[in-house]
Amino acid sequence: MVAGRRKVLFKRSVVESILSYSKMCYPNEGILLLRGRKTRDTLEVNGVVIPPGAMHGRNFSSFSWFFLPPDRSYVGVAHSHPSGAMEPSHQDILHSSGSIMVIAGYPFTDEGCISVYDTEGNKMDFSVED
Ligand SMILES: [Zn+2]
Repeated sequence: MVAGRRKVLFKRSVVESILSYSKMCYPNEGILLLRGRKTRDTLEVNGVVIPPGAMHGRNFSSFSWFFLPPDRSYVGVAHSHPSGAMEPSHQDILHSSGSIMVIAGYPFTDEGCISVYDTEGNKMDFSVED
């Protein structure tokens, strides 16, 4: 663990929302904004928002931050990989925004299908709380 890196904590309802939204969008990619709270050593993700104007394709999903009010409670973006790949693509890293990037890989069954990365594409540990 890198010094100074925050611990990522998900509410279980957030994990469930990401997985069910990913299933709903399948075979296209789904994308969700993550809301949460940052403290000195923890990043807590406690809600998801379907981005306005989201576009979904088989290999891409995008939205425009233009539609969103400036809001510091957005901590990152989650999107699904219908291919099942758990690694961020080059494009994902180029376009990552916020503090974390969450990738849900097919078949979206449980938290084992979720990976968390920082904005440089380094994998981060996370835990889920009820
Ligand atoms: Zn991706």
